[in-house]
Amino acid sequence: MELRDIKGIGEKTEQLFNKVGVYTSEDLVNYYPRAYDTFAMPVTLVDADMDDIVSIDAVICSNVTLEKVRNLQILSVYIKDVNHDTLRLTWYNMPFLKNKLRIGMRYIFRGRIIYKRGAKVMEQPSIYTLAEYELKLHEMQPVYALTKGLTNNMVSKSVKKVFEVQGMYEDYLPADFREKYNLSEYNFALKNIHFPLSTDNVIKARKRLVFDEFFRFLMAIRKLREVKEVSINEHVICNDTRTDEFIKNLPFELTKAQQKVWEEIKRDMVSDKTMNRLIQGDVGSGKTILAVLALLNCALAGKQSAMMVPTEVLAKQQYDSIVKMFADSGLDIEIVLLTGSTSRKDKKAAYESISSGKAQIIIGTHALIQEKVEYNDLALVITDEQHRFGVNQRNTFGEKGHKPHVLVMSATPIPRTLAIIIYGDLDISIVDELPANRLPIKNCVVDESYMPRAYRFIEDEIRAGHQVYVICPMVEESENIEAKNVIDYSEELRAGLAPGITIEYLHGKMKNEQKNDIMGRFAKNEIKVLVSTTVIEVGVNVPNATVIMIEDAGRFGLAQLHQLRGRVGRGSAQSYCIMVSNSKSKKTKERLNILAKSNDGFYIASEDLKLRGPGDIFGIRQSGLLQFELGDIYTDAEILKDAKEACDIIYNNDPELQNIKNQGIKNILDKYLEKGFEKLCL
Ligand code: ADP
Ligand code: MG
Repeated sequence: MELRDIKGIGEKTEQLFNKVGVYTSEDLVNYYPRAYDTFAMPVTLVDADMDDIVSIDAVICSNVTLEKVRNLQILSVYIKDVNHDTLRLTWYNMPFLKNKLRIGMRYIFRGRIIYKRGAKVMEQPSIYTLAEYELKLHEMQPVYALTKGLTNNMVSKSVKKVFEVQGMYEDYLPADFREKYNLSEYNFALKNIHFPLSTDNVIKARKRLVFDEFFRFLMAIRKLREVKEVSINEHVICNDTRTDEFIKNLPFELTKAQQKVWEEIKRDMVSDKTMNRLIQGDVGSGKTILAVLALLNCALAGKQSAMMVPTEVLAKQQYDSIVKMFADSGLDIEIVLLTGSTSRKDKKAAYESISSGKAQIIIGTHALIQEKVEYNDLALVITDEQHRFGVNQRNTFGEKGHKPHVLVMSATPIPRTLAIIIYGDLDISIVDELPANRLPIKNCVVDESYMPRAYRFIEDEIRAGHQVYVICPMVEESENIEAKNVIDYSEELRAGLAPGITIEYLHGKMKNEQKNDIMGRFAKNEIKVLVSTTVIEVGVNVPNATVIMIEDAGRFGLAQLHQLRGRVGRGSAQSYCIMVSNSKSKKTKERLNILAKSNDGFYIASEDLKLRGPGDIFGIRQSGLLQFELGDIYTDAEILKDAKEACDIIYNNDPELQNIKNQGIKNILDKYLEKGFEKLCL
């Protein structure tokens, strides 16, 4: 059903829905809430977490005061809980509440406790009688991701309408599967993910939908694998002694882990099947050099190869470093850089060089998979930071050549058992060791009062010849969130740090040329402090940078923080990560402490998992990584394993999905391969 056929949705609303990717009624019911507003049991003031919404059961213990500040009327009152702890409450422009708030009256007050001028206060709390609150306790209101103009109420009302007018969906999962894996019925799941009557129901609903998500994905992966398995190696690439020579001339010795993986890559490229390999290794474990060796062997064998990375900044950096490495070793190889911002003239030259085969190695961004680019005879494609690309982009890249070898690299720490499931279409190599010259990064979590000391520390490091990253929240987000943006923050740093220190900034809205220029100067140590958004999150490598200070660290997921921190500790000097957080929330503190305690991506992922618990529906997601709609491969690992088993059963019994019982699955899978698959980044 089209959106505009739903009562209450006009053209304007339809456009707003389109903005969040909702085009049909089906999209709409699959637009799941990202959280629920729940009414938890009231807590006492000692137990009340700052910054979170809490409910306090308390008695009014003071007279109401009404203050006029300019055109604002501020009403305040004090409350006292069972422990005789007190708290000030305030309301703006609601003088009529006065009658409701008499000394001795008992209510539940719901809101956020914040610090204002050094004192705790709850602003604009909602007021409930005990009886009213009792009723609310069981309600869960869906909270949707919104865009400007689209309200939560609009989404929730529209979803309700769809359920009213639309009939039941057929459940495509055979009943025996539902029974075996303890899954709820599809219509039940859809309704209860939006409007659950109990936490229990939402858990059931969620489990079913997560299963579906994993199941579809695994079925699709399975299909890919089938195609690849029959691929006979048409690009046999033998190791070249000049590559061995190149390795000998590197300024460092390969770690044992790198050597092992390099052997695996070499073996793949001469074997009778095409290589399809994932290299997994924590940030800084040295994955790039493995890619470089593979590219080199290819070039020396007279074949063309290409490497795709997710950002312009990274593309430029990889290009520069490879050009330099080869020049240092006296290797004469034609390398071409191709990104979105490459000038028209240069692009034309690049296309020609690529299609004629003159370009031996091509480095670039998504620009590499555009239709216009015709390769000569691609024998190897590499994707770096592949979790930033959709599965389909990865495949499109592969299809640019004639059955080329495929190598993908990722820093996402996934336990091997899960990796085997998720990357069913790939063989897996793990770089499980950091170069020996590394000192563990020293971490701390501090609040704003530490700033003066942080500034002095940064000055000391710069005096010692090192460089510093400062991470700010996104410029794009700053209109909604009280966050310092990059430009203001750079000014603050200029004022706070000793004069003469070069400070520059970088953010997503800047022109690529500008970004590359800044990054280039930072790499050359001409800039000492780089103030940046998360645009430098992935891949960037400036080993001379030894400090990263992350503002408002609590806003990021742990995985993302770990990636950011990975920008330092890439050389032999001692490095530091300063996480700044003023949050009083216990949860935030716990999360940041995990990071402060460890530099090991696997450990962090597993601790994070413990904190969030299985099927955590409200928790912070591992932002940017392995983003399924609802599912989380860490906390939902058990569901993932079930889905894998179900997928195997289907494939073993009915590989072509011809059985009438499996028609529903076939339809869903076809639709998925056409649409949902490509959005997924793994
Ligand atoms: P990542 O795995 O995060 O992509 P990189 O490949 O960018 O890491 O490597 C990080 C840094 O470590 C680079 O400066 C690289 O030159 C250096 N490096 C790689 N391998 C070694 C090694 N075996 N010994 C010392 N330094 C190394
Ligand atoms: Mg890298």
